[in-house]
Amino acid sequence: MSSTAGVFVRVDEKPGHCPVCKGEQWLVQKSAPRYGKTLAHGQFEARETVYVCAAGCKNATGTLVTHRADSLVRNIVPQCVVGYDVLVFVGIERFLHHKQREEIRMRLEHEYGIRLSSGGISHHCHSFVKYLARLHNARTELLKTVLKGDGGWPMHVDATGEHGRGTIFAVVAGWRRWVLGA
Ligand SMILES: [Zn+2]
Repeated sequence: MSSTAGVFVRVDEKPGHCPVCKGEQWLVQKSAPRYGKTLAHGQFEARETVYVCAAGCKNATGTLVTHRADSLVRNIVPQCVVGYDVLVFVGIERFLHHKQREEIRMRLEHEYGIRLSSGGISHHCHSFVKYLARLHNARTELLKTVLKGDGGWPMHVDATGEHGRGTIFAVVAGWRRWVLGA
């Protein structure tokens, strides 16, 4: 794929109804640049228009009701420039395919036109694990139901560690080869 670096996108989605007063009057709060890097789009700069309810409605937390561009919120990791698809790509390459950070960095650049630093790759590896753990916890009941359906789950418990560097503890459900906890 050719790089979309330098491509400028205007993201101006009409907000619809305010979730609090149901009104349709919005004011532009700000129009700010947002940088994005996604496998689907490469690197781009988007100017995002953020709206605020004209009636000055507030959320339960006391902040003003605003409306951001759904397409950006859905695709880009909060407080970050990369898309969720990049995060997943980095995580799978690193942890399933055991690729080195530099190899991952090169692939992203050559195949998707996405430039990340080596430190950036490390950071996204950590985020990937964090998100995966959250997903794992959110789906605990579902996983439990499947395991119960199997008639139980023999657990393989193992712990390894390099001297003085802590221990990795893992529990694997034997029949399905699922890691239940680590
Ligand atoms: Zn409102």
